[in-house]
Amino acid sequence: MKTKRKVRVVLVPYPFQGHITPMLQLGTILHSKGFSITIAHTNFNSPLPSIHPQFTFLPLPDKLDGFDTSFYNILNAVSVMNTNCEAPFEEYLVGMMEEEELLACVIYDSIMTFVDVVALRLGIPTMVLRTTTAAYMHSHILMFRLLAHKLLPLPDESQLHATIPKAYPLRFKDLPLDATKEIPKAVLDFIHSYTDIRSSSGVIWNTVDKLDSWPLQQLQRNSPAVPFFPIGPLHKMAPTSTTSLIEEDTNCMSWLDRKAPNSVVYVSLGSLATIDEKELIEMARGLAKSEQPFLWVVRPSLLSGTDDAMGSLPEDFKEVIGDRGLVVKWAPQKKVLAHPAVGGFFTHCGWNSSLESICEGVPLICRPCFADQTVNARYITHVWKIGIELEINNNNSNKNNCLEKRIERAVRTLMVSEQGKEMKKRAIEMKVEVERSMEIGGSSCQSLDHLVEFIISLSRGPVRPIRWPGTRI
Ligand code: UDP
Repeated sequence: MKTKRKVRVVLVPYPFQGHITPMLQLGTILHSKGFSITIAHTNFNSPLPSIHPQFTFLPLPDKLDGFDTSFYNILNAVSVMNTNCEAPFEEYLVGMMEEEELLACVIYDSIMTFVDVVALRLGIPTMVLRTTTAAYMHSHILMFRLLAHKLLPLPDESQLHATIPKAYPLRFKDLPLDATKEIPKAVLDFIHSYTDIRSSSGVIWNTVDKLDSWPLQQLQRNSPAVPFFPIGPLHKMAPTSTTSLIEEDTNCMSWLDRKAPNSVVYVSLGSLATIDEKELIEMARGLAKSEQPFLWVVRPSLLSGTDDAMGSLPEDFKEVIGDRGLVVKWAPQKKVLAHPAVGGFFTHCGWNSSLESICEGVPLICRPCFADQTVNARYITHVWKIGIELEINNNNSNKNNCLEKRIERAVRTLMVSEQGKEMKKRAIEMKVEVERSMEIGGSSCQSLDHLVEFIISLSRGPVRPIRWPGTRI
């Protein structure tokens, strides 16, 4: 008896937590729809194959061992990765073709530019997975437009808080790069490359139409022949086993069990952001003075320049907070946000964190650091109105307005004020909207059906594209 051959999809993530997670989640979703999945990954920050036995893993020798992969050297690291992964990736795909595997396409993070080079050469279709919002991708178009009109860099900092004309809610300070500085050519080239979808046949978005509709439409208008598939939130569309690269401290769950509903503020700045010692100490003091229970992720590398951020907390901190606060190195964040005791999230506004919070109806305190975080924070506070912004670079020397005080006030506002209750209400409404998008007939559910159909059609040769939100071109 002939068995039906499965269609294979190869996924290539960019090797950082916030990018690997959604790619593995996409893999789980596509696997549940009947596709065979290969994860082609760098040795650097490699995912754990034993946690995902349903996938085939292909390690790519990136030669990044001993290389500086910190934020400050990231462009060089990306370049090394793209150079070194190209040949082994090509060899693997050629092998697959020789074995006549039914390969539909390669889905990749657009930072991994070598994928497009190899796939074009071999005539294999590609798709891009966007792990950010369309609003963030659209902010690059705004930035390029301002640069073209010589409206950037700004002459000084006084205009940073001004709204960009015809770009509400974004201010100049929310743009992906510092609006007061000349942008080096290498950075501009990187951004051009990252925002370009090159020869891709389609774009998959970890976003929800309802949250991101206008920017999605703008971008779709710019690339009318390339179908969009906004199928987020990926972590809810197909729950996966953990995708964490760091070991999670699960003890905090029993600590949360002992806390009253909606009483705890969860604090985490994600996997990459760093702060200085002054801010760490002011955060500690502000959280302590807020008198609200808190669970704080102090990642060892949170403090720039050390590997022991916890060691820099004030000496009397543990004594002062007692059982009201708990500090961990890394938390099972999705479970934490879903816990009934958690009523607020003090976050850097990475898109995964923001979306995970939205999906649990948890309002936010926004302390964006870089990349898409400023745009996400602005949407959270001014479009969805489910959070408050914490201004960090506030030069006001007034003691009542120092960072510690501002943190204390922000936590109280979110957790115990009428304003906080309103935000909580809106966050719950938003959670319901997102849940609707995943139900049969909902926007993400429909987009996923179209995506599955589209990938199957790619494995059969020339296709009739489907344009989001579902009309045939
Ligand atoms: N995360 C986690 N435990 C933590 C902190 C973060 O599991 O203690 C996860 C979080 O759930 C999210 C990811 O790490 O999925 C962070 O991604 P995000 O896009 O929010 O920020 P990035 O780390 O890329 O800056």
